[in-house]
Amino acid sequence: MADLINPKKTIEVIQKYEFIFQKKFGQNFLIDSYVMDKILASAALKKEDCVLEIGPGIGTMTQALAEQAGQVIAVEIDRNLIPILSETLAQYPNVTVIQADILKVDIQKLAQEQNQNRPFKVVANLPYYITTPIIMSLFEGNVPVDSITVMVQKEVAERMKEAPGSKEYGALSLAVQYYAKPEIVANVPPNCFLPRPKVGSAVIRLTRHKEPPVKVLDENLMFALIHASFQQRRKTLVNGLVNSSNIGYTKGQIQAALEAQNLSLSIRGETLSLQQFADLSNYLRKM
Ligand code: SAM
Repeated sequence: MADLINPKKTIEVIQKYEFIFQKKFGQNFLIDSYVMDKILASAALKKEDCVLEIGPGIGTMTQALAEQAGQVIAVEIDRNLIPILSETLAQYPNVTVIQADILKVDIQKLAQEQNQNRPFKVVANLPYYITTPIIMSLFEGNVPVDSITVMVQKEVAERMKEAPGSKEYGALSLAVQYYAKPEIVANVPPNCFLPRPKVGSAVIRLTRHKEPPVKVLDENLMFALIHASFQQRRKTLVNGLVNSSNIGYTKGQIQAALEAQNLSLSIRGETLSLQQFADLSNYLRKM
């Protein structure tokens, strides 16, 4: 039975193994059953699902995931947690623990080997220091994933949902919204973790679109435009793009593309919607 979510039990396991929390790995273990239930309800797992859990810690959520899904693959970077996981997950033959850095794992190959190439459902209390690279690596490069239900820093969850014009709107908002529908499931205060993080947290569910909401001829070009415009937020879009070494268009071509989209030449990138970035990149691509 999944019992680690109880704070007393978590402390017991940590003391037994003399486990030392590693700040560099973003280790804040969940100790609140109400929050865990919220994550599980939002992930809506079925017996045919294979879950990819990033950073199982001592296995608190892993136990509950293994009870609901058919299979769980848990990738943990910290070698010191592996003997603990062997004990806490001993009753769960449907869990495979892999000791590795998730950013170095070939997730496509993992899906082929472990899940007959079918998509994973990702469920995790993420290490906050690498939230964005993890989310981006799950979306890019045809990784088979159909939903991502994760605990992240509250500000990052909000950024994923932002619309043009807001201060927090940026490359992450556009990338997430291109690939998925974001929904904040719960706000989570620091006292739900051991040790307590310095920031507020939120659970966000990202449901992958079957088809992206906008048609893009060249995704690499669109994301290069997006990154270049947000790298230099204070500059006009034209200057941001001209100054970027990744965009091979002249000032004249960029101005012509903006005029063709009825956009002002002094517009800033942060006011453009996903559709407008798509239209701009499609126009430039056809030039
Ligand atoms: N899932 C556990 C829980 O909810 O109690 C632990 C969550 S803790 C916020 C993040 C976990 O991710 C830690 O166990 C940490 O060691 C692990 N981690 C950190 N960086 C990682 C990486 N690059 N690859 C895989 N796991 C990582």
